[in-house]
Amino acid sequence: MFDNLTEKLTSVLKDLRGHGKLTESNINSALKEVRMALLEADVHYKVAKTFVAEIKERALGHEVMESLTPGQQVVKIVNEALTDLMGESHEDLVLSGENPVSVMLTGLQGSGKTTTAGKLALYLRKRGRKPFLVPADVYRPAAIDQLKKLASQLDVPVFDSEVGMDPVDICRSARAAAQQRGCDTLILDTAGRLHVDEELMAELVRIKAEVAPSDILLVADAMTGQDAVNIAQSFDGALDLGGVVLTKMDGDARGGAALSIKAVTGKPIKFIGTGEKSSALEPFHPDRMSSRILGMGDTLTLIEKATEMVDVKKAQDLEKKLRKNQFTLEDFRDQLVSIRKMGSLGDMLKMLPGVSGNKHLSNLDVDDREIARIEAIINSMTAQERQKHAIINGSRRKRIARGSGTSVQDVNKLLKNYTQMMKMMKKFNKGGMRSLKGMLPF
Ligand code: GDP
Repeated sequence: MFDNLTEKLTSVLKDLRGHGKLTESNINSALKEVRMALLEADVHYKVAKTFVAEIKERALGHEVMESLTPGQQVVKIVNEALTDLMGESHEDLVLSGENPVSVMLTGLQGSGKTTTAGKLALYLRKRGRKPFLVPADVYRPAAIDQLKKLASQLDVPVFDSEVGMDPVDICRSARAAAQQRGCDTLILDTAGRLHVDEELMAELVRIKAEVAPSDILLVADAMTGQDAVNIAQSFDGALDLGGVVLTKMDGDARGGAALSIKAVTGKPIKFIGTGEKSSALEPFHPDRMSSRILGMGDTLTLIEKATEMVDVKKAQDLEKKLRKNQFTLEDFRDQLVSIRKMGSLGDMLKMLPGVSGNKHLSNLDVDDREIARIEAIINSMTAQERQKHAIINGSRRKRIARGSGTSVQDVNKLLKNYTQMMKMMKKFNKGGMRSLKGMLPF
């Protein structure tokens, strides 16, 4: 996400930090580079211009803090200005109104609307709501099937729309059906076209008039840059959007859409899509995004992701096992599976401070396949082998390698790592904190 922009901005700001005193001229030349970096990232030119002017005013104005060096002050100012540009704080879905409420998803074909419908259902269910999915794209037959399939995978109730029904009728009937099933939030997956066209807008306006949704979101593809901003303007003009979901932020989107949408349309980005899986949806926090763009990481999102995945009871059991040296290969595998659920290792690393702005670190190739390999090896063991790794002799190793499509060396390596870890834990459990000292490499 935004790797280039991050790299450029961190390098400009690093240069600036090197100066003891900031003059108007070195601020000017730094800002010129900031503006170039923004334009290269496909930020709307007017937005880039205003942004730079704003920073200059703040940097040369009265906003100086005694405790910071001039260079640090500029970083602080850029960080705050980026945050303001994207909308200050996170804006959540609006779900107020007569029960059940509706959230209407709109957007062009291929933007990720149907996928986002599933992601939102999951997001809402985690927050204690009862979502009801409504396929209202009757023109593309596959769209209805796609959402029904997704609903069944996620175990979320779905309206039984059929091709040929009127989308407004679907939305009306879906409301009664949702009520009957005890659901409180309808997610309407409306039709998309390849381009903005009047017929589509007229249909969306009719749906809006019929169901009075509590929130209307545009789903837009971040990879399309300024097009996404123009599309947002058109949809907002016709529908008065509540906000935007920016999808495919896991790809190499340059950042233009994320940085311009709020400034151009006045409507906030509420969520970002970060992958094809149904769990790959993040609430959009302008301050955290700004911090990520400046290479300062986003530890808060990382912690939230981890907390969502952690089962407190399981964590306590695990802690007990570690203390008693009973941590088996099976536990090891469960840990890997839960790490994998959080997303790709490379993306998670980038949320740590200093990683994404650093050329060497951000190019680190974190191989998610390595985890998959370890998982496969442990899966090919028998239950007994997982409990008592000492019984895994040469012939067993061969069998495990064959079963998991890996080599005996791979199996050896895993067992070696595991036994080393167990040894370390033993040492730690015996000596407490003091023993840690001997284990650290410095
Ligand atoms: P729709 O036509 O707007 O309903 O779009 P779909 O939901 O069918 O999505 C189009 C394609 O984009 C599918 O292949 C999705 O898997 C993919 N997609 C959707 N959201 C994301 C995302 O956040 N990241 C990535 N990498 N792919 C996505």
